[in-house]
Amino acid sequence: MPTINLRGAQKNYGVNSANAVSDLDLEIRDGEFMCLLGPSGCGKTTTLRMIAGLENLSGGEIRVGDRVVDCVSGGVFVPPEKREMGLVFQSYALWPHLTIERNTDFGLRLRKLPKAEREERVERVMQALDIAKYRDRYPSQLSGGQQQRVALARMLAINPGVLLLDEPLSNLDARLRLEMRAELKRLHKEFKTTIVFVTHDQWEAMTLATTIAVMNEGTLQQIGTPNDIYDRPANRFVAEFVGSPPINILDFGDPGTSDVTDKAEAYLAAHLPGLRSIGSVGIRPEAIGYAARTEDVPEGSFSGETTVTGVLPTGGNWILELRTDNHTLFLTTHVPPRVEQGARVLFFAPPEALHVFDADGRRIAE
Ligand code: ATP
Repeated sequence: MPTINLRGAQKNYGVNSANAVSDLDLEIRDGEFMCLLGPSGCGKTTTLRMIAGLENLSGGEIRVGDRVVDCVSGGVFVPPEKREMGLVFQSYALWPHLTIERNTDFGLRLRKLPKAEREERVERVMQALDIAKYRDRYPSQLSGGQQQRVALARMLAINPGVLLLDEPLSNLDARLRLEMRAELKRLHKEFKTTIVFVTHDQWEAMTLATTIAVMNEGTLQQIGTPNDIYDRPANRFVAEFVGSPPINILDFGDPGTSDVTDKAEAYLAAHLPGLRSIGSVGIRPEAIGYAARTEDVPEGSFSGETTVTGVLPTGGNWILELRTDNHTLFLTTHVPPRVEQGARVLFFAPPEALHVFDADGRRIAE
């Protein structure tokens, strides 16, 4: 499948409404598992529908390889059925009067493929998705998760160049969701299909994607591998949206009101000189350590005194709530805590764990 390219893509649904998607540049390469990630209403579904051809652009263009499939100014619009893309939405409509096998075969029949080829493809995807055993059942005789697998099988059978999935696992319980994620990852490897997957669930995106595009309010915030997004968030929005418990933010907005931000300011001036107009600093909970004595704090760390105000077990891991003068910091650890609520401890973090943002929230340091 050629690369899909969105250039300055824009969507506005009405005369007086804000852009649902603004000036979006996005490249989706062959074989990529791209997750569009962001909060509700950020424009993920609109983007997917524009790629599919279910929405036309208000501005910009979309190309598939060298072929322009949507461009307002050029007067081009290729309809969905001519874009060779398979779509699976949150609500997957299976034909209630057809068996699972016939449902899986449905798209192939429409395309009038030879019988032997159809049978071979249907068998292959039914085996891959572990639904062959239900072949003679009807959709109403399957669970939600099993039906969702049939919807996926039906799409994979027609072997679309691109699979567009809009929150396809949202109706499943936690365990099935996890199973389906593993299955999707396996399928992506086996079928080498390009996948564009919409989700608001950061874990889903982190576990599935080869590339994540984080969106907010119709604009692209960052595009990169899951590690890029997590370890080098391009701005404060991405830093705060990805990660659970969320990243700790020390806001420099009100200087002099907090000993911990003053400390951070002094620390940054000494360790990362030359940084100007710092707006805030983020530290991931797992990057923070704690110690009872000053001599146990690693040299060169950013550190300060705190009181432990909460010890929260989360089944194998623990969250510690630490209170400085007017800041609460959370740290996570998989080692059983050696402190109790009320203890005075020192927190510390290495310099590379400090994500520094400017007053507009943009990352300004490594
Ligand atoms: P969710 O995760 O809640 O599905 P989303 O990130 O997929 O959200 P979109 O569905 O793309 O977001 O919506 C983006 C914006 O466009 C929202 O403000 C939404 O209200 C608006 N919008 C979406 N579809 C339409 C429509 N058909 N007509 C008018 N406005 C729309």
